[in-house]
Amino acid sequence: MDDHVEKCRSLRDELLRWKEGIGPSANFKKPFSHMTREKAYKKKSPPINSAKLNKILKVDPKNKIIITEPYVTQEDLVKATLPYGLIPPVVAEFKKITVGGAIMGSSLESSAHRFGQFNDPCRSYEILLGNGSIVSTSPQNDPDLFYGVASSFGTLGILLSAEIPLVEAKPYVEVEVQRFISTKEFSKEISLLCQKENRPDYIEGLIFSKNDARILKGRFVDSPKTNVYSQKSHSSPWYYQYVLENDHFTMTTYDYIFRYDRGAFWMGSYALWASLLARFCFENTKFPQSLLKPFIDHKKGKYNQLKTPPYLFRLLAGWAMSSYDLYKLLHQKKEGWFSEQFVIQDFYLPEMNLENYLNFTIENHQIFPIWICPCKGTTTPQWCSPHKGEGMFYDVGIYGWPLEPKNGPIASQELENKAYELGGRKMLYSTNYLSEDQIKKHYALNKLDQLRAKYQAGLFPSFLDKVLK
Ligand SMILES: Cc1cc2nc3c(=O)[nH]c(=O)nc-3n(C[C@H](O)[C@H](O)[C@H](O)COP(=O)(O)OP(=O)(O)OC[C@H]3O[C@@H](n4cnc5c(N)ncnc54)[C@H](O)[C@@H]3O)c2cc1C
Repeated sequence: MDDHVEKCRSLRDELLRWKEGIGPSANFKKPFSHMTREKAYKKKSPPINSAKLNKILKVDPKNKIIITEPYVTQEDLVKATLPYGLIPPVVAEFKKITVGGAIMGSSLESSAHRFGQFNDPCRSYEILLGNGSIVSTSPQNDPDLFYGVASSFGTLGILLSAEIPLVEAKPYVEVEVQRFISTKEFSKEISLLCQKENRPDYIEGLIFSKNDARILKGRFVDSPKTNVYSQKSHSSPWYYQYVLENDHFTMTTYDYIFRYDRGAFWMGSYALWASLLARFCFENTKFPQSLLKPFIDHKKGKYNQLKTPPYLFRLLAGWAMSSYDLYKLLHQKKEGWFSEQFVIQDFYLPEMNLENYLNFTIENHQIFPIWICPCKGTTTPQWCSPHKGEGMFYDVGIYGWPLEPKNGPIASQELENKAYELGGRKMLYSTNYLSEDQIKKHYALNKLDQLRAKYQAGLFPSFLDKVLK
């Protein structure tokens, strides 16, 4: 704790020095990010090197809590708590997503139908405000700040630590897959399932095509009663690939939680597209650019069909296919390159419009698989959270190559407009095509601005600085 206090003080001193204009003109530093949008705002942000805040401060199995600094990762959280048969209620699927990113950005997983987003079960935060004061905030103590920071992208203050409750976890998760031949049946069934008293611990959906939608139900178990699917070996099938062929299996809880980390859902399988790979390596180089035209068989309609990684590819490339490795690759490329090629977006739809949105997405864009993750809405004053509202929301995760090359922005914009038309909101980590007025309309920015004034956050970048393209 002493070390933590010391680190917080030095961070505060850095902030105050910067405020007085005598500090170095560096950026708000953190070694790694999962965000896919451009970061022009960095030129304006304070020179705060907060990356050293990466320790777990306390694990208390008796009282079922963990207190942690913000740059502790999801993987660190699970490794520290699972040996006690405990786990945070919501753990994001990518191992290197940090506690700070999950609270200040948005984060959810297949337990979100019970607990909401990562931040919803959190008990308290310690925050460094723009005037240099370090405050403690919880639902009882300064709820405006406690709720306001959720999905605020660091525009209210710097998170220094978070107290997260723990729930009981068993060593294994048994997964059952239910198949549907239409989005209508799928949407009806997943919403009924989410209302059930004895519903599974984990619920999510995968849509592989217009006529192939699946609900995946996970329950904690003490020991496996079916075959065990392990991700230990690099060559093991990726999760979505395994689900294509298996309806009932068991995984260790650790493997289950991070099941999409290998291949970053399925994004790693795009390395199998030679034309895309060539473009990634040679675009804007001396290589003859005319040879880079994508190889597409429009007639056969095979352009954006899913390619599942074969054994040899997994064996040879598996070591470089963690979400962390793939994001490192992404960040090497000029910012914006991936948003130009791909759609990488998460839209939260209200229950009544899930089917409608899925049909629109399938008919117009045919990017498969589509990930569906139910998330309990919140009525607390989290002004910028995508799940603000009553009832259940359904995160529709669309990650892939759109129908035409370099069509990422057009497809994303169409998907964005439709989602808002149907009462949805998006996770704002990705590239946004919304206008300033649209963002103001959908995210209650006037409330956030009031909080920024109240908590003297003027020296942090504004929400618009952070999320506008
Ligand atoms: C393809 C893709 C798939 C995704 N899938 C999932 C998923 O399955 N489940 C899921 O939960 N999420 C998912 N996400 C979203 C992801 O959880 C968020 O983007 C999250 O914010 C990333 O965390 P990070 O640690 O990389 O944070 P960063 O990108 O570093 O930070 C996110 C924001 O929080 C701010 N911030 C970070 N730390 C602090 C701090 N200490 N104080 C103040 N502000 C801070 C940063 O300034 C930034 O604005 C996905 C994102 C992508 C790109």
